[in-house]
Amino acid sequence: MSSNFETTAIRTQMDRSTFSEHSSPLYLTSSFVFEDAEEMRASFAEEKERNIYSRFSNPNTSEFTDKICRMEGAEEGVAFASGMGAVFSTFATFLKAGDHLLSARAVFGSTHSLFTKYFPRWEIATTYFSVEQLETVEELIQPNTKCIYVESPTNPGLAVLDLEVLGKIAKKHKLLFIVDNCFATPYLQQPIRYGADLVIHSATKLIDGQGRVLGGVTVGKKELIRELYLFARNTGSSLSPFNAWILSKSLETLAVRMDRHCQNAFQLAQLLEAQEGINWVKYPFLKSHPQYDLAKKQMKLGGNIISFELKGGLEAGRKFIDKIQMCSRSANLGDSRTIVTHPASTTHSKLSEEDQLAVGITGGMIRLSVGLEHPEDIWEDLKNALN
Ligand SMILES: *Cc1c(COP(=O)(O)O)cnc(C)c1O
Repeated sequence: MSSNFETTAIRTQMDRSTFSEHSSPLYLTSSFVFEDAEEMRASFAEEKERNIYSRFSNPNTSEFTDKICRMEGAEEGVAFASGMGAVFSTFATFLKAGDHLLSARAVFGSTHSLFTKYFPRWEIATTYFSVEQLETVEELIQPNTKCIYVESPTNPGLAVLDLEVLGKIAKKHKLLFIVDNCFATPYLQQPIRYGADLVIHSATKLIDGQGRVLGGVTVGKKELIRELYLFARNTGSSLSPFNAWILSKSLETLAVRMDRHCQNAFQLAQLLEAQEGINWVKYPFLKSHPQYDLAKKQMKLGGNIISFELKGGLEAGRKFIDKIQMCSRSANLGDSRTIVTHPASTTHSKLSEEDQLAVGITGGMIRLSVGLEHPEDIWEDLKNALN
């Protein structure tokens, strides 16, 4: 099959059933049946690859993971009920008591809670590095360090991390390099090219792209995925076949949606930058972005998220959110509908003020997840709220 992204996204399909359907059907079945005792034995002994029970695998979840694997250039993958299901299961598979994790300071809110609230109970230590100081990463490695974990671009600060540099450090020190590629999607960035061992997605965001279902996936090297698969199959945060069916369909349009998301976002980022009342605008493909050259090298387009800081701090931030008319006030992102979020009082409110500042969150900061409405209408709404 062609290796072109769009073709892969559309033409990776499960085998047709006896009904010769064109579009992949939905297999809502919790279990599968066997011809005889021998087939059952062979399947459980894994001598024969086939579906047994939908917590283990299902044709719809397999189609979804096969597709993501091809898009990311990965060997195999496991799908989960949510992005956090994927994040948690990945760490739980590869870390044990006494291990140490090196993570970028700016990570998704619930991932941060996992590190700070739960890891200490399991005696897993975490050290954060600043996304602006990748040169310090190597000095932070300890004898018990097992992995390096990052998101790029980060949420909501939109810092771009040099995946190639981190991939080399991980390889040199034999560490697992894990990347949450949710903000970029495989259309914009494929971390495995830069040395990532495992790539995680919250499929809830741009992969579904229409705000309907939750889902997550981790892809990577075959032997690692085998371990993760066994953990997932025994602990039960499997993706439902229905959600897998939706997500696999969504991937068919990922490229065209991302092209438009990014085009709209770039246009709005430029308009915001020219607007008074705003201290700064962050968007990876704006020339003013501190890692502009890196973003251009590492990403196909700038993504759909913009962050900016209003003059006037917390009060101005909350007021702006209140004045928005069309765009949605929501904590989600990566939807066809444009969403405005106030990170300081919502997604990142669990962080201390000091931690918020360390990852670039201020009271006046707004995160914009640019949707697929006409950009003139989005701008009209933003402009009115700014005035
Ligand atoms: C939303 C998100 C997650 C968690 O995904 P869920 O599907 O909500 O569980 C993880 N990482 C990033 C970067 C996210 O934006």
